[in-house]
Amino acid sequence: LSPVPSDIDVASAQIPKPIKTLAEELGLAPNEFELYGQYKAKVNLSILDRLKTKKDGKYIVVTGITPTPLGEGKSTTTIGIAQALGAHLGKLTFACVRQPSQGPTFGIKGGAAGGGYAQVIPMDEFNLHLTGDIHAVVAANNLLAAAIDARMFHEKTQSDKALFNRLCPNKKGIRSFAPVMFKRLQKLGIDKTNPDDLIPEEIKKFVRLDIDPDTITWQRVIDTNDRFLRKITIGQNPTEKGQTRETGFDIAVASECMAILALCTSLADMRERLGRMVVASSFDRGEGSESITADDLGIGGALTVLMKDAIKPNLMQTLEGTPVFVHAGPFANIAHGNSSILADKIALKLAGTEEYEEESGYVVTESGFGADIGMEKFFNIKCRVSELTPDAVVLVATVRALKMHGGGPEVTPGKPLPEIYLKENLEMLEKGCENLVKHIQNAKKFELPVIVAINQFITDSSAELELIRKKAIEAGADDAVPSSHWEFGGKGALELAKSIVKVTSTAKSVKGNFKFLYDLDKCIEEKIEIIAKEMYGADGIELTDEARKKIQRFTNQGFSKLPICMAKTHLSLSHDPTLKGVPQGFIVPVRDIRASVGAGFLYPLLGEMQTMPGLSTRPCFYDVDIDPETERIYGLF
Ligand code: ADP
Repeated sequence: LSPVPSDIDVASAQIPKPIKTLAEELGLAPNEFELYGQYKAKVNLSILDRLKTKKDGKYIVVTGITPTPLGEGKSTTTIGIAQALGAHLGKLTFACVRQPSQGPTFGIKGGAAGGGYAQVIPMDEFNLHLTGDIHAVVAANNLLAAAIDARMFHEKTQSDKALFNRLCPNKKGIRSFAPVMFKRLQKLGIDKTNPDDLIPEEIKKFVRLDIDPDTITWQRVIDTNDRFLRKITIGQNPTEKGQTRETGFDIAVASECMAILALCTSLADMRERLGRMVVASSFDRGEGSESITADDLGIGGALTVLMKDAIKPNLMQTLEGTPVFVHAGPFANIAHGNSSILADKIALKLAGTEEYEEESGYVVTESGFGADIGMEKFFNIKCRVSELTPDAVVLVATVRALKMHGGGPEVTPGKPLPEIYLKENLEMLEKGCENLVKHIQNAKKFELPVIVAINQFITDSSAELELIRKKAIEAGADDAVPSSHWEFGGKGALELAKSIVKVTSTAKSVKGNFKFLYDLDKCIEEKIEIIAKEMYGADGIELTDEARKKIQRFTNQGFSKLPICMAKTHLSLSHDPTLKGVPQGFIVPVRDIRASVGAGFLYPLLGEMQTMPGLSTRPCFYDVDIDPETERIYGLF
């Protein structure tokens, strides 16, 4: 329709096919999927074993230039490409996207199901509870938070012997260790299987974690933008005997449990990672302080049980009936901002080929934020863990964002776009194209083909689209194609899809050239410096004393070989969101460095990072309502 109706109106005008039908079309056996209502299913990981001899399909990563705060259409383009390849070119294609947090859905940005005629449906189910994965993350995260405070409380109020008696109850004359306790004994170097064999010093070490409350890094989480939970005091009821403590809440998707969900490669791997999450340090007991993990608290197994269904990717569909995996949604600054490895792996096998088949299908996966962050982490963190090699990068650019980089006025969500963005302005656009050029050069550093997708808005002129195309090709892109999937669905992305097919089949040898930006063996500081110089164009980095202290500590603790997950603004190539275009001559300040040991990365903080968003005066929830007669939802986008 023209004009294109609202996202929710487009989405609800299309009746999805039963997901069971889609699962059967994809060749899933009845025991390989579980229905969650009519339009969503979870896919069991056992499928990876059945399909292990198949060759993977083509792997395309979608990323973007430095965006305006409105987003430049990476999700929309991911879905548009999948619709074009799958429904118009007849190639089996999966889109793999993140599950959105309800924070932004009801805050400012809205959902993340795509937009216009390129969406995942039913978009209300996609944007709301899906199959409960985020709720499972919240449950696991908060059980661990409760366990930390409860353990400190019990240690404070009980003797060694009393603690021991409670931790290892004496049932029918036999005292026993819970299975998870062997990990703690192993860590302490105690090789005993019978609790009654422990001597008093060992009992003391075993039962007392001696958590230093000032070192606790684990926060509680909730999936609501609730600014008043940023800092709270807990333990104020008299039953906690004065054991109060300042702590806070993060948004659910900032939980390390979410990063683990996205990065784990099997249930066993998830169990290991959840168990080794570091939540605090102990007081120095004369031998230095100890890193306290989830397994030290005896909780790694329970956390895995809470997340055992969340690990299965969720199958949904596009407006044109092609398959989509929606799975995991880690934050893109303090975490790596990419959807799950398991969804990509399953999709690559389903779209892959048997020995005797020639033509493979495609997996189009999206990485969050701009290419300087999301794509860099996709390669250096996600691909390193998954051992998957992408075939091409699709870099999304828009006229409006490039005009902003060329000196255009500020763009603010919820306010009308300034006039200049709605009229042709080749001069401003040409200047802004330097941002696009830098991102093309960045992507090329990984030795992969780059296709620029110019996400077309109805106000763009053909001269503007042509100018971006020309600049992209001059900068070394393998192709650059305007695409109108938002307005026309898969049909609008046909040329882009054809270009992807062409580039990924002609540039075969390129796949073997894929390389990481840095070696894990390099020291922490050097890895950060490489990213800052190579990706952001900085002259160097500057570490605070706190950051230096942490580098020393992480190196001593044996964490220096972990990859780096930069926590940086997405609104600039630099650390300063006000610097547009391609900032020059700047030094990146590293304020602090933290570790997500379970997820497996170190995250330097470049400036203040907000892990709990707030609500504005006029959040999106004002527009959301339901017709009680028809149960039709309004106002989601
Ligand atoms: P990103 O994934 O890069 O954050 P999205 O795909 O979520 O961006 O798009 C951001 C918003 O812009 C969505 O509301 C979407 O409907 C809208 N949008 C995307 N592409 C277009 C387009 N070509 N024309 C008009 N609106 C668009």
